[in-house]
Amino acid sequence: MLNEQLQLYIEDLIPERDSLLLEMERFAELHHVPIMELTGIEAMLQLLRIQRSRKILEIGTAIGYSALRMASAIPEVQIVTIERDIERLQLAKQYIQRSKHSDRIILIEGDALEVEELVRPHAPFDAVFIDAAKGQYKKFFELYAKLLQDHGMIITDNVLFKGLVAQPDIPVKRTRNLVEKITGFNNWLMNHPDFDTVILPVGDGVAVSKKRGE
Ligand code: SAH
Ligand code: MG
Repeated sequence: MLNEQLQLYIEDLIPERDSLLLEMERFAELHHVPIMELTGIEAMLQLLRIQRSRKILEIGTAIGYSALRMASAIPEVQIVTIERDIERLQLAKQYIQRSKHSDRIILIEGDALEVEELVRPHAPFDAVFIDAAKGQYKKFFELYAKLLQDHGMIITDNVLFKGLVAQPDIPVKRTRNLVEKITGFNNWLMNHPDFDTVILPVGDGVAVSKKRGE
């Protein structure tokens, strides 16, 4: 996590998004939809460009913002994205239909832990992007790592959770439990025998895990 001044400096340098994406950013802010932070998503998009991802699985569509950012950044990429909140999924559908990329984004409705069968026909994926319920990260990772291409990568958002992962005393029990889940996940991930992982201190903390070669 960068200090605020540097964060703002970088954000100011990032080129404007198109009008639909800006509208979505405003909607998200107004309605407290936790879309990915700007510096985090820019870092992720750059990795996906370098990897030349062709097929990406996203867990946690929300209103479709990150899915549309990925579709606009990478020509020809196909995105399969899962969302369990029906209202958000409807909004995502509408926004995606208004974009130029609706033919490259497949929306799957349901709990990511229950729809693997619907996802599997689209596998293998070059990248999996985990951005859903923080308490379930390990389960998402284990379930969908199986659908990853050799040398594919998994990107996980919010692994620094507003800096709380490094804060010693967290008074609110619910928050403390969630922080323990995330730090548990981070420890598990950093020691995973099949993946090399780096945690980037951008946005809300982005973990990039690359499958080890055979
Ligand atoms: N990736 C989006 C933001 C996702 S916010 C973006 O950056 O634009 C997280 C979303 O994950 C929420 O909309 C929530 O409803 C969804 N979610 C949480 N747990 C889920 C699960 N188990 N299965 C499917 N969706 C889930
Ligand atoms: Mg997030």
